[in-house]
Amino acid sequence: MIKRTSILLCFFILICMETTNAKLPADANARFDSYKENFVLELWKVYPSWASSVGYHKYDSVLLIPDDASRNNELSFCRAHLDSLKKFKLAELSDLNKIDYYLIENQLKYAQWGITEEKAYEWNPASYNVSESFANMLGNDYADLNSRLRNFYVRMGAVSDYYSAAKHNIKNPTKEHTILAMEQNSGGLSVFTDDLNEALKKSTLPDTEQAAIKERATQVVSAIKRYTSWLGKLPNPNPRSFRLGKELYAKKFEYEIQSGYTADEIFKKAQQHKDELLVKMHDITSKLWPKYMAGKPMPGDRLAAIRQMIDVLSLNHVQADSFQAAIEHQLPELVAFIKNKDLIYIDPSKPLVVRKEPGYMAGVAGASINAPGPYDKNGNTYYNVGSLSGWDKDKAESYLREYNHYILQILNIHEAIPGHYTQLVYANQSPSIIKSILGNNAMIEGWAVYGERMMLENGYDGDQGVNSTEASPEMWLMYYKWNLRSTCNTILDYSVHTKNMSKEDAMNLLVNEAFQQQAEAEGKWNRVSVTQVQLDCYFTGYTEIYDLRESLKQSMGAKFNLKKFHEQFLSYGSAPVKYIKQLMQHDKK
Ligand code: ZN
Ligand code: ZN
Repeated sequence: MIKRTSILLCFFILICMETTNAKLPADANARFDSYKENFVLELWKVYPSWASSVGYHKYDSVLLIPDDASRNNELSFCRAHLDSLKKFKLAELSDLNKIDYYLIENQLKYAQWGITEEKAYEWNPASYNVSESFANMLGNDYADLNSRLRNFYVRMGAVSDYYSAAKHNIKNPTKEHTILAMEQNSGGLSVFTDDLNEALKKSTLPDTEQAAIKERATQVVSAIKRYTSWLGKLPNPNPRSFRLGKELYAKKFEYEIQSGYTADEIFKKAQQHKDELLVKMHDITSKLWPKYMAGKPMPGDRLAAIRQMIDVLSLNHVQADSFQAAIEHQLPELVAFIKNKDLIYIDPSKPLVVRKEPGYMAGVAGASINAPGPYDKNGNTYYNVGSLSGWDKDKAESYLREYNHYILQILNIHEAIPGHYTQLVYANQSPSIIKSILGNNAMIEGWAVYGERMMLENGYDGDQGVNSTEASPEMWLMYYKWNLRSTCNTILDYSVHTKNMSKEDAMNLLVNEAFQQQAEAEGKWNRVSVTQVQLDCYFTGYTEIYDLRESLKQSMGAKFNLKKFHEQFLSYGSAPVKYIKQLMQHDKK
């Protein structure tokens, strides 16, 4: 504790000496602003598919061939821009530009590292898949259909070379990514058959053009099929392990999460946090036992007792046909509670539209936020709610118990208010394209996870209305279960990739110690076998934000104001918490 304080103090002095915003030379920031504009334009040339995915459509007809030439081109782009960055003195940049500087630098170094060290292009066959980017050209109406289809046609011309380069790159791939590649590439074939044909019917392209498009789509389908069958037959006597290993993991964590903590430190914090949660959950279970389990003896096994209590509380849930209505009903209550408690200002002019999940997203039940991209700021923000219609009874019941009365409220806090949606509204007011393109996931997810705890700490409980002063023990227990999920995401990811955790141990962690359903835990195991580090973002961001708040509370004493803290924290945009921390530590007064 003492050690950390002294480090923070050093930071504080350093920053004070370096920056006094009032004396900043204006032209340094103006120069940096125009540098950024140029950087983004060049970025899109190097990454045309990324450009299309964020709504910049100039390079829609371009599909990059993933060969040595394009990797070399990417490397020289990174080198050139790391050089350009050196021409700016950090001390002369405004706070917001400083963060942009760090984000650009991190992106360039991450890309270099990906090519020279991580080399996923060699071992991850699932990194080759064209269907999603083509699907977006059909599914998003950013331009008239005919011109989207013409770009679609030109872009298809590169698919065959794309997969040839992929085959050339792949060496000793992991089994898991090989299977995933076959599944995902086969799953995407409908984009070039049914989906394309449907779009062609709606278009007004002349028949000859339609025929040419169909002809080329047939070639694309065979190129993809050749790729998957090649993968299926690939002799691979020494497949690489899907586990990333300690060294690569530490680096990837650094670039991906951009935390003030190392991966090792976060893992230790997650383990400790899990232990604390289980103690609290057991306390609540003991208190609630007589109310729900009258006459039934409480199991001596701590985990068994908690599990039984969670199962009973989970029976309190809405019916399938009122799932969306329940969400719509809760949102204004969350807003009213926040206003009542003065927790953060919420701009009423940017409404959140709740809608049934659109067809192209179907399959992934649950809820998600769809935010307008950096090139479409005036677009609506949607809260997509998965529909349960057509589900069989058991599956729907299990889902509804998972998203029961309590968890549904926490989900709304996370996704919408004051979670992702609120954060996005603030992020859009900090108008930096760099932050919306290179935004930090750990900050974004961390904020949503932080918001859950903050709301309960301030007494939120849907059953008690907007004047609620204390959340019920039931609410807290279910919240802890939910929080245990993100905590265990980190424990799982780190243990699997750096400590050789077996599937059996992973299942024990998720099912027995984190009270997850078998199906959910299996899904998580599949996810951790094909991704690395991403699962850390929730707990890491949450921990950093919470720690920052507590340290500011302590150092500011009576001057600390929760609403001000939230608003200032969000005003920097989707920046890594460690940089926001530097700026807020500096500004506290
Ligand atoms: Zn039920
Ligand atoms: Zn989230």
